[in-house]
This record gives sequence, C-alpha cells and structure tokens, in this order.
Amino acid sequence: MIRLSGIRKAYGKTVALDELELDVREGEFFCLLGPSGAGKTTTLKTIAGLEQPDSGTVVLGGEDMRGVEPYDRGVAMCFESYALYPHRSAYDNLASPLRSPRHRLPAAEARQRIGAIAELLGISGLLDRPVGQLSNGQRQRVALGRVLVRPARAFLLDEPLSHLDAKLRQQMRAELKAIGAVRRTTTLYVTHDSVEALALGDRIGAIREGRIVQTGTREEIWYRPHDTEVARAFGRPRINLLPGVVTESGVRADGGIELPVRAPAAPGTDVLVGLRPRDIALHGGEGHELSGTVYVTEVLGRSVEVTVRLGTGEQRVSLVAPGRTRRALVRTIPYGSRSGLRTCCCSRPTGRSDRDDG
Ligand code: ADP
Ligand code: MG
Repeated sequence: MIRLSGIRKAYGKTVALDELELDVREGEFFCLLGPSGAGKTTTLKTIAGLEQPDSGTVVLGGEDMRGVEPYDRGVAMCFESYALYPHRSAYDNLASPLRSPRHRLPAAEARQRIGAIAELLGISGLLDRPVGQLSNGQRQRVALGRVLVRPARAFLLDEPLSHLDAKLRQQMRAELKAIGAVRRTTTLYVTHDSVEALALGDRIGAIREGRIVQTGTREEIWYRPHDTEVARAFGRPRINLLPGVVTESGVRADGGIELPVRAPAAPGTDVLVGLRPRDIALHGGEGHELSGTVYVTEVLGRSVEVTVRLGTGEQRVSLVAPGRTRRALVRTIPYGSRSGLRTCCCSRPTGRSDRDDG
C-alpha cells in the first residue's frame, strides 16, 4: 500500500533520510519507532507529498506519486504540531475536512460522524470550545479526530498520543486500534515509545539516522533484534547483554559464568548474549542455573526489578518478577563458606506479598 524505495532527503548538510526503504501492507497497522531526529516526521511528510525527496520513489496503492499534489494523494496526516485552527471551535476543526469538495458529507451525516469520533476520543464535552483554549492533550485528540473523521486510503499519525498524560495515553492506546476507521485503513504510526510500538504494531520498523534498520513482527524484533541498538530500544528494563565466548556447551560469560544457551557461532567466538529481564524466572531450591547476589531491587508497580550480581564478577543481570513487595519476593539465605556474602535465591511469589518470607 505504501512503498518507499531509496528515499534520500537532505536539508543542507543534514541528511534526514538516507536510502530509506519501507513497505507497508494494505490494511496493516505499521509502527515506525526511532529516537528524536531519526527521520520519522520527514518520512511521513514525504509520503504525504509535503516534502519532495532528493531521490527515490514513493508509491501509494501501486501508483507512483511523483508530481501528485498532497491533496490528491488520498492520505490523511496527523501532525505532531497539531495544525489546527486555534480560533475555531473543536467541532469546526473536526468538521472542516468534511466540508472540502472531495469529502463533503450531508450535514446530518457529518454531525453523526463527528459525534462518534469525539465520543471515542473523549472530547465530546469540548466541541464548542475554541481550540486555542484547550490543553495540549485535548488539542492533540482534536488533531487526531480531524484525521480519523474523513475517509482516506492511509492514515499517517505522527506521535499522536505524545502529549496525553500517562493514564489517558494508555487508555487511548488500547482503544485506537479498535476505532472502525483505523481497523479499515492502512495506518502508519510514528512513535519514539517502544511500549506503544509493541502494543500497536502489526509490524514494526526500527528507524535510525534516516534508515530503517529492521522491519518485523513484535516477536521478530523482540527475540531477533538486528543489532544491539534495536535490542536496547525495546523493553524496560532493558535487555541484559552479557559479553562472553562460545564453548562446546553454551557460552561462558565474563567472570566464568556458564550460560546454557545455544549460540549460533563456533566455539571460541566472542558474542553478546541477550537475556530479556522478563524471561528470567526466579527459583527457590532446585534447578536454578545462575546464582548471584542481589545488588538492588526496585518496585515497578505490581512487579519488582531485581538486579543480581552474578558469581564473583561485576556482571549484572536485571530480571522482572511478579509481586508487590520486595520482602515476599526476594529471600536471602546465607551462602556456604563465604561468610558475610548473602546470595540471592528468590522464592516464587506466593500472592501473599504482605507476608515476610524471612
Ligand atoms: P524525527 O521526526 O524522527 O524526530 P525529523 O524527520 O523531524 O526526525 O528530522 C530528521 C532530521 O532532519 C533531523 O536532524 C532534523 O533536525 C532535520 N530536519 C527536519 N526537518 C528539517 C527542516 N525543515 N530543516 C532543516 N532540518 C530539518
Ligand atoms: Mg518527529
């Protein structure tokens, strides 16, 4: 549906897009994730026809967009900077796309459509107010509504939830994909928030310095990151990356720690082993495969991040364990002959997290 090939765009000496390749399929919800300055907004503007690439092609629905005016491309873009009429009411801002010759709707139908979108975005009570008097979060929802209200062959959404407070953002994130217009329409969603990208994206593209470094499903991005930067960009707490060397039976990490992992490399090769904090389970008693000393614990709402120092070295791993308090979760026991050293051996959460497990 959206295909960008070899797109280059420079502003003076700044290269915003560097041979960018992107392929968004018909009907999918595609998230483009990257840090500030990566070229996300420039990508959307190039698709919308608001910026002309220095080279490369933009194809929408099989049609080359060279020479096609923004208005004729049939895409609706939601800008980071809102692009609203500040003196007009929220209602007028939502209605104006439906007054254009192309999308003109009978007044009653337009009213009904605007009402439905406003309801979904939680702005029904604000429709009479001039947009200039609204908060940033409210304006951002009007801007999003203005895009979703009209028929388009693709929606281009530029960080559309970034100005909402955390609770509303979470709620809107859950609801956005359920909006009928979004379900029916190819959507390219730009964000710098990896949680949003993982929650929303049918597929995700990681963009960096004007290039897409990896495209994949959340599983692929999560477990087969293209490089360490992509690995670190997704997931909080961040992935553990332990340097080590491949052996016959696994990987020996720095500090002599044996990791029973299958490495796709020959013995003797230097590697980094990635361990997702949420994939490391805590065991009590038998069968634990790594041991170490609790270095620090941090309560994250309903779970706890535990940082453990492995073996005797400086190698640390973070893990996330369910549970509300540290006491129920982390049981410390004396460790053999090394007096004074208390080694982490963590119980499975009992659910009775107010109990002191000793
Ligand atoms: P993102 O949306 O990922 O934060 P942008 O696409 O806005 O990134 O910008 C990519 C790069 O291009 C940045 O280095 C930015 O400073 C530069 N850039 C974007 N727009 C302009 C412009 N109109 N003039 C000059 N430089 C720009
Ligand atoms: Mg941007």
